[in-house]
Amino acid sequence: MRPPSVDRLARSIAHLGLPHALSVSQARLAIAEGPPYDVERLANELMGRLPTRVINATGTILHTNLARAPIGTSDINSPTFRASNVEFDLTSGIRGNRNRPLSELLQPLIDAELSAVVNNGASALLLVLATLAGSGSVIVSRGEMVEIGGGFRIPEVVGSSGCRLIEVGTTNRTRLSDYEQALAANPGALILKVHPSNYRIEGFTEQVPVNQLAGLGVPVIYDIGSGLLDSKMPWLKAPLSALSQEPAVKQSLRDGATVVTFSGDKLLGGPQAGLIAGDAKVVGACLTHPLYRALRPGSHILELLADTLLRYLDGTATTTIPLWQMLSVDIAQLKRRAESVGLGRVVDSQALIGAGSAPGAVLNSIGVVIEGDRRAELRSQPTPIIARALGDDTLLDLRSYSPDDDHLVRRALLEMGCDKEATQ
Ligand SMILES: *Cc1c(COP(=O)(O)O)cnc(C)c1O
Repeated sequence: MRPPSVDRLARSIAHLGLPHALSVSQARLAIAEGPPYDVERLANELMGRLPTRVINATGTILHTNLARAPIGTSDINSPTFRASNVEFDLTSGIRGNRNRPLSELLQPLIDAELSAVVNNGASALLLVLATLAGSGSVIVSRGEMVEIGGGFRIPEVVGSSGCRLIEVGTTNRTRLSDYEQALAANPGALILKVHPSNYRIEGFTEQVPVNQLAGLGVPVIYDIGSGLLDSKMPWLKAPLSALSQEPAVKQSLRDGATVVTFSGDKLLGGPQAGLIAGDAKVVGACLTHPLYRALRPGSHILELLADTLLRYLDGTATTTIPLWQMLSVDIAQLKRRAESVGLGRVVDSQALIGAGSAPGAVLNSIGVVIEGDRRAELRSQPTPIIARALGDDTLLDLRSYSPDDDHLVRRALLEMGCDKEATQ
């Protein structure tokens, strides 16, 4: 039997509303796949891959597959189109510097001489290593040979920056004398300390704190990745105990780290970005390194990051940065929200911080449980809802999404007939 024509197959999915060129490309794929030429399935799968807004009801607050920190909707998308003064100084009317205002906003928060913004935490570390170490050597503890996920492995990042890696200590114990011996054998080497953000070594362990490394007289780079801006968390009423073990930028610099690198979205709660903060000479050299041009973010990111930092500065972080709203919302509020959804069974749940941050730390939460595995139906809602399995049932955790979306969750559950289940 001859396969159907590309045109006929493409027209058969016109109701899906895909641009014609995509209907045609999916029709070609369906023909290549052979009978039954299921172009509708292929088109739906393509649409399911397109980046779009979702409701994160997994209970994992920084979900790696769901863009980690959600960003608050500022006015960034409101005009039909807009320009940004990313490199234009409104006072002088001449070319400005895209990095300078971000560094100025960070300064009072972390007491860094200078900060630089790049695309993500991996870029931040790569740029620092390429700038500082060149083709030199970098000393790293064997207890900090981290893999972050998505292929970010410390030995490989060090290797791709052109540096030679010198491993010291053992998996569970590294002492100051290990670093001293490595430095004696490799004068001019740098020290890289990495926060093992996504695993814990327990038991007979020892790692050297930054203040001791700083006494060795060579630059210390500290990749804290998911750390906090300030361990005192002054933007909260009280520091969150689940985060008390996280390293912080301000205190690490005070302890003598030459530069600290960290993610702009993990525990900062801004857009995806990477930050380098610390010594003005070193950060300044990063900003003039040719790689900076390849790693610098665009205006949308810089605006969102500036907006996030302003919220830390004006004291509204807890009420306006989604990450802190989710981390600090109390159980009573979550319970009220679950009751306002009004469908399914309200249960106690446990939320995770996620993104490899604070491994093992859980936050009490509230979930709505519906019978059976209904995850695929939830994903196919007009605003897709991502839930998690609870045994044979489905749990929607309320801590990891915005209260503004409760009505969409309710509507989806009604749509799915959950009002016919027994509620209690
Ligand atoms: C997450 C993380 C990184 C990478 O940051 P990205 O923003 O994901 O590129 C690097 N180092 C540590 C310790 C991390 O936790």
